Amino acid sequence: MRTLVLLVTSVLLFYPFTAGAQDNRAALEAAEKALGATGLKSIEIQGGGTFVWFGQSYSAGTPGPQFNVRSLRRVVNYDTASLMDEMVRTRALEPPKGGGPYVRGEHKAVGFVSGDQAWNVVGEAAAPAPVALAERQFQLWSTPHGVIKAAMAGKGTIQGRTITFAVPGSFKATATLDAANLVERVEGTMANPVVGDVPVTVTYSDYRDFGGVKFPTKIRQTYGGFPALELAVTEVTANVAADISVPDAVKQASNPYARVQSQKATEGVWYLTGGTHHSVVIEMSDHVIVVESPLNDDRALAVIKETRTLVPNKPIKYLVISHQHFDHAGGVRAFAGEGATLITHDASRKFFEQVVAAPATVSPDHLAKSGRKAAVEGVRDRRVLTDGTRTVEIRQIAGIQHADDMLMVYLPKEKFLIEADAYTPPAPNAAPMSPPNPFTVTLAENITKQGLAVDQILPLHGRMVPLTGLNKAAGVTP
Ligand SMILES: [Zn+2]
Repeated sequence: MRTLVLLVTSVLLFYPFTAGAQDNRAALEAAEKALGATGLKSIEIQGGGTFVWFGQSYSAGTPGPQFNVRSLRRVVNYDTASLMDEMVRTRALEPPKGGGPYVRGEHKAVGFVSGDQAWNVVGEAAAPAPVALAERQFQLWSTPHGVIKAAMAGKGTIQGRTITFAVPGSFKATATLDAANLVERVEGTMANPVVGDVPVTVTYSDYRDFGGVKFPTKIRQTYGGFPALELAVTEVTANVAADISVPDAVKQASNPYARVQSQKATEGVWYLTGGTHHSVVIEMSDHVIVVESPLNDDRALAVIKETRTLVPNKPIKYLVISHQHFDHAGGVRAFAGEGATLITHDASRKFFEQVVAAPATVSPDHLAKSGRKAAVEGVRDRRVLTDGTRTVEIRQIAGIQHADDMLMVYLPKEKFLIEADAYTPPAPNAAPMSPPNPFTVTLAENITKQGLAVDQILPLHGRMVPLTGLNKAAGVTP
């Protein structure tokens, strides 16, 4: 009874009126005022700390590789729903364990979102990155001022100290205000192509006044229960020039993942490119094997469509997954929704069983809509698929530090080797990396130790090259 009385009292304290539109507005305005967000159109923050790459772990279901963030410069334009992150970082481990591009020393990553377009800039070139949209929209609107702006723009409501807000298809979240009406915590669910609904949290503390605008100097984020970002904020500038607009190259690429180009590697084997991540289609007597379904549903559905055009009237029986990194596994759920059996390394079998059983309520995808259940099969060292004519060998890349579940696909008769991330051909005439990428060295060692006779590499990034390309990159002298 006492508890009930206390509860009723606190409810009355926090909700002095029944929540009407005007009270909603007034409460949000009070929070806006506390943050110094009134009239704030844009903000720039700078800081440093650590970043952990979600979805690029060495082992599925463990934290990803860590990076030291020398500097993060984030510019947000709330009026145009735009954000830019410019991160200068180094790997905490060298040589690395886990994924992310293999770059030595300090390197810069620049990512943008504006409205419903996400893109990256590498050097001078802008490349669309639709797969990053949900996360970047979450990053934009989960900033302390973003929470209030989102709610005031009709994307959310406030009740007591809790603001509920969402960008449909990308995330839904609740933010908690502290006693001073400052945003102290955001808890949300974000859409992810691999794991469906992923829980995310942001904690803000140690607020300081930066020329009238309050901003936390400590930011902690978790993705899927793992640390994702720890940032010490050193500088905050309100109302900076923040002219972030979608580059023409991004605008014109309306659905870049739908662009599939197929190249016949030999009779019944096609190399599917057209973007950043490739797939291989292998025709068997009464079914089809697809190696790799990267990125997301859009890409997977385009690859499935192309596969059906290349090989009509034969079902896609297997999808072979090179490894569990999210950029390579983003289309796994779509293949599961088509009834394909997934083949992964034993180390990731449980992970993919969870993946195909996971709900995707924020952005219901092909699998969620299909209502299907998929089979997942594991490979330890080697598994052979054959129809009596063609043989497809799925083999582990043993000892590679990129991931503990790396599989390569070897076609002994055709002398083809399909692999991801162990070797990516550099631009023609580019000098090989020196010293060589250790992942490439491990792949070359595996080819020798496993006694594979390879003529052509079909890499899942880059382009088809003869084995000499790989040997050169690995520093192997024939
Ligand atoms: Zn990888």
